[in-house]
Amino acid sequence: MSIELEPWRGVAPVDVVIYCPKCGKQHLDQGEFLTRVHRKHLCEHTPEDSPENPKTGCGHLWVPFEYATRGVLEVIRPEDS
Ligand SMILES: [Zn+2]
Ligand SMILES: [Zn+2]
Repeated sequence: MSIELEPWRGVAPVDVVIYCPKCGKQHLDQGEFLTRVHRKHLCEHTPEDSPENPKTGCGHLWVPFEYATRGVLEVIRPEDS
C-alpha cells in the first residue's frame, strides 16, 4: 500500500454515474474498487461483458472529477423513497 499525500484521498468517494469518454461504456466499480478510494478510473472489462456485447472496456484511463468517485449503475438518493 503506497502512501500518497493527496487531499482527496481522505474523503469518502462519491457515487456517480460515469461513462468512458472514449468508448461510451458505463464505468462500474466492482470488487476491490468498491472499497479502494480512487479518482482515476480505468475502462475495463466487467462481468456483464459477453461476446454478444460489443461494449467491452477500451483501457482508457480518465479522471471524471477532482475528487474520489465510485462508478455505480445508478445513484441512490436517500430522499427518493
Ligand atoms: Zn473506477
Ligand atoms: Zn472505454
